[in-house]
Amino acid sequence: MFAQRDKAIEEIAARLGVRAERGKRFAELTSLRVGGAIDWVIAPETEEQAAAIVHELDQAGIGWRPLGSGSNVLADDGEHHYVVLNLSDMKGEVHINGEQVSVSAGYSLPRLCIDVARSGLSGIEGLGGIPGTVGGALWMNAGAYGHEIGTVTEVVRVARDGKVVEVPGESIQWNYRHTSFNEGELLLGATLRLTRDDPAQIKARMDDAKSRRLATQPHGSRSAGCFFKNPPASTIGTGKIIDEMGMKGQRRGSAVVSPVHANFIVTEGENARAEDALALAEEIRERVRREQGIELEYEVELWRASNEPQMNADDADQSGKDE
Ligand SMILES: Cc1cc2nc3c(=O)[nH]c(=O)nc-3n(C[C@H](O)[C@H](O)[C@H](O)COP(=O)(O)OP(=O)(O)OC[C@H]3O[C@@H](n4cnc5c(N)ncnc54)[C@H](O)[C@@H]3O)c2cc1C
Repeated sequence: MFAQRDKAIEEIAARLGVRAERGKRFAELTSLRVGGAIDWVIAPETEEQAAAIVHELDQAGIGWRPLGSGSNVLADDGEHHYVVLNLSDMKGEVHINGEQVSVSAGYSLPRLCIDVARSGLSGIEGLGGIPGTVGGALWMNAGAYGHEIGTVTEVVRVARDGKVVEVPGESIQWNYRHTSFNEGELLLGATLRLTRDDPAQIKARMDDAKSRRLATQPHGSRSAGCFFKNPPASTIGTGKIIDEMGMKGQRRGSAVVSPVHANFIVTEGENARAEDALALAEEIRERVRREQGIELEYEVELWRASNEPQMNADDADQSGKDE
């Protein structure tokens, strides 16, 4: 059904020297360990390769989505007929020049926090326990314990027309777990501006953030962090709201409200299903709506197979016939 598209993908990947794989599932690529089959996973290793590949895919009308470590994504159990651009191989090296730190989007955020702390650079030590890549953190404006990545971002490198283009950090709106990047924008890397401080003091603040996290959040479990954002008008956080409704430990099949932190949904078992996590999340939203009059907004990104990015027009013409 996608023969023409598949041939085009193979040809583009071979020409640009980028690894392209079939047969992967979101269950292998996301921290919740659920989610269905992916047609293609393409894994660029450099910013230039990534910029070139998405340009070629766009030119060929082939839909794609960027994925970092998959620690904020709940992909459903269906078949996802698009290319996943897996950026976790696009690590590069961290370049430190005075107080400026340049890093590629695939680099691990916790690793970066350790690197800069050792170099006596402060500004992201609160982010040390956030799993994922720098790209995922930029996309969501990840934050914790008084630090947000957007606050220290001087420049973001993005892919435009096959090229690496620099965008000033101050031209981007960095909101609570949301930014003004356009859907379909690929982030390639960033330059952060940090401040000098005593490495021992930075480490002490990192350790403090880590122990607070360990005391309040489940660890060693399969989650995507906080499932819902905190409601703007409420004085108490979403975790406390759900906890006070007595929902800790509530289960739907393979998904459970964490007994440690009620805003975490964790999955269990070899064959855990995204539909269980989604049903549990909707049950929570329904109860919070009914009992508290609050509309919870997802912090986790829901990727629906049915709401896939645009695919090759020639193939799309036939897609309805075969399904
Ligand atoms: C145990 C746990 C604790 C967590 N605690 C926190 C916390 O304290 N604070 C917090 O903010 N988050 C937290 N999270 C959520 C998550 O770790 C962050 O949102 C993280 O920044 C996601 O990075 P990622 O690489 O895994 O992104 P992914 O989950 O892979 O992707 C998230 C989104 O970013 C997009 N994206 C990823 N890379 C790129 C790119 N290069 N270009 C364009 N778009 C891209 C994806 O398309 C997707 O829309 C937690 C998660 C877990 C599992």
